[in-house]
Amino acid sequence: MTSFREVATLCEALAQTGSRRALAQQVADFLANVDEESVRPAVRLLLGQAGRGEAAVSGATLWPVLVRLIGSDRVPPRLQHEAVDFGQAVERLLRERPSGPEPPVLSVREVEDRIRALGRERGPGSRGRKERLLADLFAQLTPLEAKYVAKNLIREMRTGAAEGVVLDALALLAGGDRRAVERAHQSLGDVAEVAARVLASRGQPLPPSTLAYFRPLRPMLAQSAESASEAVAVFKGRAGIEEKLDGARVQLHREGEICRLYSRRLLELTPSLPDVVTAVLQKLAAPAVILEGEVVPVDGAGRPLPFQELMRRFRRVKDVERLVGEVPVRLQLFDALQVGDASLLDCPYRERWTILERVRGGLPTVRRLVPEDAAAAEAFYGRAVADGLEGVMVKGLEAPYTPGVRGRGWLKVKRATSVDLVIVAADRGYGRRHGWLSNYHLAARDDETGRFEPVGKTFKGLTDAEFRAMTERLSALAVGEEGATVFVEPRVVVEVLFTDLQRSPTYRAGLALRFARITRRR
Ligand code: AMP
Repeated sequence: MTSFREVATLCEALAQTGSRRALAQQVADFLANVDEESVRPAVRLLLGQAGRGEAAVSGATLWPVLVRLIGSDRVPPRLQHEAVDFGQAVERLLRERPSGPEPPVLSVREVEDRIRALGRERGPGSRGRKERLLADLFAQLTPLEAKYVAKNLIREMRTGAAEGVVLDALALLAGGDRRAVERAHQSLGDVAEVAARVLASRGQPLPPSTLAYFRPLRPMLAQSAESASEAVAVFKGRAGIEEKLDGARVQLHREGEICRLYSRRLLELTPSLPDVVTAVLQKLAAPAVILEGEVVPVDGAGRPLPFQELMRRFRRVKDVERLVGEVPVRLQLFDALQVGDASLLDCPYRERWTILERVRGGLPTVRRLVPEDAAAAEAFYGRAVADGLEGVMVKGLEAPYTPGVRGRGWLKVKRATSVDLVIVAADRGYGRRHGWLSNYHLAARDDETGRFEPVGKTFKGLTDAEFRAMTERLSALAVGEEGATVFVEPRVVVEVLFTDLQRSPTYRAGLALRFARITRRR
């Protein structure tokens, strides 16, 4: 049995270590000596993930409990402010405790179980019960152990050994095969689980990973494309096009009579969606599968409703049954990740779709087409948008399922939105657009400050004649120059279509338009 004291000592040593290599080596040396039963809790405690984050306790809850534990008259007044972080404050506080018998040696399992028990306390009176559990636990910890239990509770370890370092360490133990460890992590979605695999096959190469039921894996993500035909061209015409529904992504794990549902952030949704669980158990044609789909709220006639309706379901803990009647939902499937013991992650999308069709039984999929040509893809997109959907997903027929990766296997094409923006600058064109001011910096007015904040640039949407006219107009408004950029008075307002917004580290507004094109001048 690995003791929690060993984990705390390791954490302390890691916090003093600078290089990533050295961090990984220390973690590897430690894990090499951990027994099988202790691996998972040890890794979670090392990463600050004890109880998988379900037992978060704030510093504001814990501190008064500890102050009472040591006798409040002993607490030096400035202690909390002088510590570098909350964990250190807890450690220093417990050093003030009157000396008593040496605390017992607790195993990692026991410490994690007791942290987990905190997460089970809910409802009336739970605060008092939680405080008692905390007092009992901390009374049995050394100051150093207390420091790292506290850090687990607030989920901020600051040891320098985050998941990437632990994966490096596991690669060292798996004969240096970082890629195999990476793949295992992608399919298992959980570092503690990868650690258990690596240690179980100690010294040997990792066996190909099958997915574990009821342990969600990180979902595959999509990049954006400007149009359906462009997206299909990326796959040289070898693509499927699917409706992009505006609901909540759900990963469905079904084994025998048990069905559980997980969100894209890997949180369990099962209690909010009892009707979906029932439908899955009744209609699915396979006894053991992991599938993916989108849950959408629908009206009485089965037409999709706005996404917000669905949020009412997820916010509710009580009275779920009543909401099931009020906000009906429908699950539409779009991928199959595992059937029985066979992982499908490396199968091409076209095969996964065929398997999905075979196992789905009475459950619907999203609407889908393998378009003959670009025109068919555009028509499918047009119909999706006309139906009020968010857009389409274009998926390469040969693409494997890459968990957690925003790769080029899936391309999303979203319906365009229009906004009015003002041109605040323009770049001098080159090549074909030589002599014109052609790349326009678009800004929106911040209502609070009244300032125009740039949110994107585009040179798209104008004819040659319009470029010439725009160049003339903007030249007359010029107020300064920097390199190839001419700044202008914010006078020309244009209507801009864009398909997506992304976070921007460069613009002060924090957002940038994607695929913007000018549709007309106001
Ligand atoms: P976005 O959130 O804009 O990056 O788009 C990706 C999301 O679209 C996924 O996480 C799913 O929730 C959702 N989605 C809707 N329809 C589909 C589909 N047919 N295939 C994949 N994802 C879909």
